[in-house]
Amino acid sequence: MRIVGSVHVVVVILLVSVGLGWYADRTSEQLHEQNLKIQLGLERMVRLNRSITDQVAMAVLDKNTLRAASYPSLKTELEATVREVEGLTRDMLLASDMLSLKLEQEALREVEAEVFDLMREDQWQRAYEVLLGGGYVMSLKLYEINSDAAVGALTIELANNFERHDKLRDATLVLRLSAMLLLLWVGWRYSVRLQTEVDEQQRLRQAVTTANRVLEEKVRLRTQELEAANVQLATLSATDGLTGLPNRRRFDAYWAQEWQRALRAATPLAVIMLDVDHFKAYNDHYGHQQGDECLRQVGAALRATIRRAGELVARYGGEEFVVVMPGAGQAHALETAQAIRAAIEAAGMAHEASGVAPVVTVSVGVAWGVPTPTDARELLVQQADTALYAAKAQGRNRVVCAERG
Ligand code: GH3
Ligand code: MG
Ligand code: MG
Repeated sequence: MRIVGSVHVVVVILLVSVGLGWYADRTSEQLHEQNLKIQLGLERMVRLNRSITDQVAMAVLDKNTLRAASYPSLKTELEATVREVEGLTRDMLLASDMLSLKLEQEALREVEAEVFDLMREDQWQRAYEVLLGGGYVMSLKLYEINSDAAVGALTIELANNFERHDKLRDATLVLRLSAMLLLLWVGWRYSVRLQTEVDEQQRLRQAVTTANRVLEEKVRLRTQELEAANVQLATLSATDGLTGLPNRRRFDAYWAQEWQRALRAATPLAVIMLDVDHFKAYNDHYGHQQGDECLRQVGAALRATIRRAGELVARYGGEEFVVVMPGAGQAHALETAQAIRAAIEAAGMAHEASGVAPVVTVSVGVAWGVPTPTDARELLVQQADTALYAAKAQGRNRVVCAERG
């Protein structure tokens, strides 16, 4: 704001000094012109005056009035010149006035008029005496001396005038130069400040960009962490902590999804339920920790047996497990159930307290079917559970397939 204000002041100074300079130049030119006119006018006055007196003298000497024929026109011209010079000196406010010169001229003209009267009366001798007598010649001389003096005085006055104007012109020149320098300085200061501001803005923009980039990177990392945490959370919430198998919650969701799919596509669906035989006795005999380990190994054996895509093994609860087999035929479901039973028996985990076998065994119930809209979603699971109960009742360590209702 301060720089803009300074520019205004400097521009005003510059304009004023340019205006003053222009005025001084113009006045100076006019002075020169008028001076020239005054000088020429004064010179013409002297010349005309001399012509007039010469003509009158010639007429008297030749005794011939006609020799002064152009006298009136010369006189008129002289009067016009006097008026012009008078006007110019007045315009220029010059002190030297033309009055004395004018009076002297008028005195000369009066003598000449007298001479003309005498010539017309044929008094040539008398005219000669008046003209060449001391008075007229003296007036003539005086007039010439005074006109020279007037020229000199005017010249001095004009020279003083010029000097004043030259000083004014010099002053405006100095002013103009100073204003120009000031303007340059202000411009330079302005550009320096502008550059500083541009640099500062650039720096700020850079800082904001960097901060944004850092923030974006942080947000990206945090989002990644959150996504990973969500995935982990989802996995954890669907996983059984002991065996690492999908838990009951996961089973329920998966079962609902596959039941709907089978219902829509009218494709078969099988479910296998199994339960460790005499597990309470196992716990009592080997301890709860060992019981946990046993459950982990049963889980691993199940995982190793169920390998088809889309088939899901889950811990149903306690020492019960469940297998979902979308699209499985009855034979395949039964084979898988047999394979599970055999694999767990073959794992050879000692179970001295079993009463069924010296190793850990399972009882398995299988249910199979193509869902219909009238079926309850839990139907197959209940059937598998009933089959499992039957397997237990029939002596354990066996597979029972549910009756088709
Ligand atoms: P059955 O052959 O009829 O199935 O007899 P069972 O003893 O296996 O059946 P019961 O339902 O009487 O006992 C099941 C036992 O399983 C009781 C419970 O303490 C045990 N159990 C359930 N969950 C766990 C677990 O996570 N770890 C351990 N160590 N034991 C468990
Ligand atoms: Mg049980
Ligand atoms: Mg049991």
